[in-house]
Amino acid sequence: MSLVEVNHLNKIYQMGEVTISALKDVSLDIEAGTFVSIVGPSGSGKSTILNLVGCLDQPTSGSIKVVNQEVGELNNKQRADFRGQHLGFVFQNFNLIPVLSVYENVEYPLLMVKNESSAKHKDRILKLLDAVGVIDQKDKRPSQISGGQMQRVAVARALITQPKLVIADEPTANLDHDTAYKIINLMKEMKNQFNTTFVFSTHDPKIIGEAEIIYTLEDGMIKNREDRRTK
Ligand code: ADP
Repeated sequence: MSLVEVNHLNKIYQMGEVTISALKDVSLDIEAGTFVSIVGPSGSGKSTILNLVGCLDQPTSGSIKVVNQEVGELNNKQRADFRGQHLGFVFQNFNLIPVLSVYENVEYPLLMVKNESSAKHKDRILKLLDAVGVIDQKDKRPSQISGGQMQRVAVARALITQPKLVIADEPTANLDHDTAYKIINLMKEMKNQFNTTFVFSTHDPKIIGEAEIIYTLEDGMIKNREDRRTK
């Protein structure tokens, strides 16, 4: 089953007199429960496509269906609701809230979106912190843990609402190579455990090989699709 269907997608940025065609007639299809990498050089359109699939921005033309919803048609409020219900995000700068503890950072999306009581979700948060390997850090602030640990917390925060799709824009860009591998493998483990679909972008060739499906972007166009599951 397709979780994401993108057809003939175009994105044009207008900056004063200058027109930038960031995506040109992009079509792609992402099955539920797969681990997908979007690769390509800097400026090839990776973030643009993730922002569009992640309902953070609107296309100039073309269709984007996520969980059978045409997301290009949603207004700002509907897009925010849709993100809260179906999507999780991991960013290259981790984007944790500095004044909250590790535990509270993971709890935050539940308070914002699901409106659940804290007693009910405590167990779930602790289990997830354990699964991503930061249970011992649960009372620390982000500034008291390492970059790799911060990204583990960010992965837990993305998963706590049990989203269908997690979007990770260059999640390993600010990590050393060993830590980057560990984070990618953690995301893969979480994918297997929760059957969540992960789409991540990277321009690190060594990380790319960990994906099941690899889309290569060049100058705003899909140049190649590789399915490594059959190998
Ligand atoms: P990547 O993530 O592969 O580095 P991006 O999607 O960020 O590529 O950018 C694709 C192209 O779109 C680049 O030429 C970039 O300069 C341009 N671009 C991205 N975001 C904006 C924006 N908000 N306004 C204007 N141009 C943008």
